[in-house]
Amino acid sequence: MGSDVYDAIVVGGGPAGSTAASFLSKKGRRVLLLEKESWPRDKTCGDAVSGKAVGILAELGLTQQLEAAPHAEVFGLTFSSPEGRQVSIPFAQGEENITKGYVCRRVVYDHILWKNASSLCEAVEGAEAVSLIMQGGKAAGVRAKTKSGEREFFGRLIIGADGVYSVVARQACGRTVEPAHSSIAYRAYYEGVTGMNGTLEVHFEKSIMPGYFWIFPAENGAANVGAGMLMSDVSARKINLAAAMERITTQNPLFKERFAGARRISPLKAWQIPLGSKRRKIHADNVLLVGDAACLVDPFSGEGMGNAMLSGKIAAEVADEALQAQDTGEAFLSRYPQRLWKEIGNELATSYTMQRLGKNQWLLNFVIGKAATSKKARDAIASTFSSKKARSDYLSPLFYLKLLFS
Ligand SMILES: Cc1cc2nc3c(=O)[nH]c(=O)nc-3n(C[C@H](O)[C@H](O)[C@H](O)COP(=O)(O)OP(=O)(O)OC[C@H]3O[C@@H](n4cnc5c(N)ncnc54)[C@H](O)[C@@H]3O)c2cc1C
Repeated sequence: MGSDVYDAIVVGGGPAGSTAASFLSKKGRRVLLLEKESWPRDKTCGDAVSGKAVGILAELGLTQQLEAAPHAEVFGLTFSSPEGRQVSIPFAQGEENITKGYVCRRVVYDHILWKNASSLCEAVEGAEAVSLIMQGGKAAGVRAKTKSGEREFFGRLIIGADGVYSVVARQACGRTVEPAHSSIAYRAYYEGVTGMNGTLEVHFEKSIMPGYFWIFPAENGAANVGAGMLMSDVSARKINLAAAMERITTQNPLFKERFAGARRISPLKAWQIPLGSKRRKIHADNVLLVGDAACLVDPFSGEGMGNAMLSGKIAAEVADEALQAQDTGEAFLSRYPQRLWKEIGNELATSYTMQRLGKNQWLLNFVIGKAATSKKARDAIASTFSSKKARSDYLSPLFYLKLLFS
């Protein structure tokens, strides 16, 4: 480990950090990547890898590695409504050309990204950032607990990729937890769940509305099972999500048979999800925040790896330009939020509206009930998986009228 000044220090080696470190190193910059855990490390997640994440993985030249690693392939989505109607809809071929998706345990997926980053830059595991080093009111480095004791590292830029509990976001951008814009979710792996059909299952189960219970197929017939809700709803309704999952898997008529011979093969773990339903401050003098540290998770689906990797890529581009211009001040770095919101701002706003529509049980019963009985309705919904433009149809009364008469 060198003791001089790095071009950039990336704090956190998850999808956002490893992506940022890889792209910036490829531009010839000297990057230090710090990760508090040691590999292999897990991250509590549904493990569903979206088309957006797969696209950036391809840009990094890592698709083959995902294909060669243990994973499951999925070909559509299954929904059930609060009143228990169920429908499976295949991913349609469309402008985004998505016909299959992947479910890959994060202990595997993140390691692929980490190994790539560590082949390109100086990457240190077991190094936990404890605070930013401030000089003249601006971030100049990172103080970290490492395997060889506390160390100080200096960088022209600090990229905070240290997840939802980010030290960098708290210190540089005053981040606090906002329960109306954060979810809490529980997840465990199971063996022996029956009735899986190669789709990602999202169940709007009555007792945890507004929120959902999921069953995602994992490798070799295992299942990633979880439940998530907005933190503000959990506390307002005093819901115990772990107990709710137990009740759903043992008592709900849709699931009790499917879990009758199943066995939980991991502890049940909870983690926070910082939703992109509100724009937070994500840059400061010498600092950029990416991924969960920047609160970019899709507010409707809970999908966060795609935006984590995309923000890592955009941050690397802006970081390179700032280093080139020798200007890492807040004004120059404002290119980063501008570019990021241009890319994902509309999508996050649409998802936020859908999250609020999803609080309406009647509407969910109607949409899923229609889809269960009408091919036209299924096709209308399928096209919204494969086209960004069609997704905004959910916001139009016309979409629901079309369903009504389909
Ligand atoms: C239960 C659950 C289910 C989910 N399901 C899905 C899903 O199916 N698909 C999907 O796309 N998204 C899902 N998400 C969201 C997704 O997990 C996150 O959006 C994604 O992990 C964000 O990546 P990241 O790199 O920003 O953060 P993280 O993956 O959290 O990575 C942050 C890294 O920083 C390290 N770190 C933390 N603090 C420090 C520190 N002080 N110093 C050094 N290193 C540090 C951590 O060890 C970690 O490796 C889910 C989330 C939850 C909680």
